Amino acid sequence: MAADCLFCKIVARHLPSTEVYRDDQILAIRDIHPVAPTHVLLLPVRHLDSIAQAEQADRELIGAMHLAAIKIAAQEGLDNGFRLVINTGHDGGQTVRHLHIHLIGGRAMHWPPG
Ligand code: 5GP
Ligand code: ZN
Repeated sequence: MAADCLFCKIVARHLPSTEVYRDDQILAIRDIHPVAPTHVLLLPVRHLDSIAQAEQADRELIGAMHLAAIKIAAQEGLDNGFRLVINTGHDGGQTVRHLHIHLIGGRAMHWPPG
């Protein structure tokens, strides 16, 4: 657990969240400020600053996070599609420095993103 990391505290249940999925590697929670009817964040249990820090040893974890996202999308009934987003670093718009995948759905998305 990284000191002063919001998502590490949520993973450790030192702060509350609405959990939709948990296993030994991954936690999925509802975003506190949803931008669509479904807005879930998938976090690795182990702290990683961002996807930019991922290494070969994280291959299985990164794959498992995407597969969990697909499973949650199905559970949420996102049969018309959905979007997975990994904001990375300052220019990528990342505000919480603990890797997370946004799973967003339940409405039509636009492109390009802002
Ligand atoms: P980022 O901007 O880093 O890609 O995404 C961070 C996300 O975390 C934002 O969508 C924001 O609404 C969400 N968030 C920030 N603080 C909390 C919190 O305390 N709980 C939950 N569930 N989501 C949070
Ligand atoms: Zn963390």
